[in-house]
Amino acid sequence: MTKRDHIVGIDKQRVWHPYTPMGDYLERGNPLVIERAEGSRLYDADGKSYLDGNSSWWTAALGHGHPRLVAALERQARQLCHVSLAGITHAPAALLADELVRIAPPGLSRVFYSDDGSTSVEVALKLALQYWHQNGRPERTRFVALSDAFHGETLGVSAISGVEVFRRPFERVLMECLHVPVEPDGFGRAFTELCRVVREQADTLAAVVVEPVVQGAAGMRMYDPELLRGLRDATREADVFLVADEVFSGYGRTGPMWALEASGVSPDVLCTAKAFSGGMLPMAATLVSERVFEGFLGEPSRAFFYGHTYAGNPLGAAVAREVLAVYRDERILERSAPKAKRIAECFSGLGELGGVSGARSRGMIGALDWAGGRGYLGGRGWQVYEEALRRGAYLRPLGDVVYVAPPLNIADADLDELLGILTESVRAVLQQSP
Ligand code: PMP
Repeated sequence: MTKRDHIVGIDKQRVWHPYTPMGDYLERGNPLVIERAEGSRLYDADGKSYLDGNSSWWTAALGHGHPRLVAALERQARQLCHVSLAGITHAPAALLADELVRIAPPGLSRVFYSDDGSTSVEVALKLALQYWHQNGRPERTRFVALSDAFHGETLGVSAISGVEVFRRPFERVLMECLHVPVEPDGFGRAFTELCRVVREQADTLAAVVVEPVVQGAAGMRMYDPELLRGLRDATREADVFLVADEVFSGYGRTGPMWALEASGVSPDVLCTAKAFSGGMLPMAATLVSERVFEGFLGEPSRAFFYGHTYAGNPLGAAVAREVLAVYRDERILERSAPKAKRIAECFSGLGELGGVSGARSRGMIGALDWAGGRGYLGGRGWQVYEEALRRGAYLRPLGDVVYVAPPLNIADADLDELLGILTESVRAVLQQSP
């Protein structure tokens, strides 16, 4: 028995995989067994390499095993791996917070740490609710989001997430959230409606939560950043908090450091995770304005009694600081611009193919749908996945949506190869079933 078969055998007896229909996996699953990764490539147990088309769930923006991140992790591990952040501190958490605030949209001045994208948004929701509870507006308990928004996995954030297939089993117990529908190509109308809801229902609203510029898990749906301006005006006038979930869109994924920058808008709360710690450790942060922070001062009972065990973890914080240093020293944003152009050209070409619809790109994201696709439960993306695997690329789709979101520093030759494999794989699937 090969080493690979041995691992898969044990895996199939013991591991319950995320976002995976397990019956099918047990019966037919032929999973990659990844042994190591370097730069933009994953290597399996047989030594075959795969270009990482989605930066491992959108985290490895600097590729895998960046030597500076590994060195920072090693240095920090020798000194301090973990200590609680409750009322005491350490250099990585303090210095990272300062560095983050310096590059954050104006007006955000305090940093609350947690573990992953979901918790960074969960923190935002609880902060908003508690803020209004103890600052004279206890009836402000509802949230507003766009339909097909996605903000994570916990029960709290599941309430504001609108992707139907993920919500359905929990629908009856989720807290109340108003979801404004987005028709295909209808973001303009949706934002107008969002602003109307904010104005008319301000008395009961705690916050509006948005993924700036791109709704990732919904299928890489992109919208004009200008739309965020009107929403900022409406939330400001109604005095409702604007929460920007930059878990996916941040760290240059759409071009600028924060997707919001394209609109010039500053939110009251900003959530960051994923690329924040370079795809090395679970680590997240929720940045807030001074006003939000001050709403928790005074009597001890007004404190934010919230905090995950690993909040501000020194290893994660040390790596996150090094991520920022690498962004600066290697001019990651600037140098990704020509790569983004190649992605745009490739997808615009794919958009010409009969059977492909809605090809789009922004920054280091390119995506396409199939004419008559079936959304998240559709199978054509998975056909492309299989084709791409054979050719040496890992392109996990979002159902029928095929996309790339590679490391921002992917080598030009690797990017060309990735886009070449994508193009061939899409063509192959179109030939099988046009
Ligand atoms: N917010 C957004 C915009 C996301 O895309 C995701 C995950 N895809 C999350 C939050 C949740 O992040 P995590 O999986 O790290 O909890």
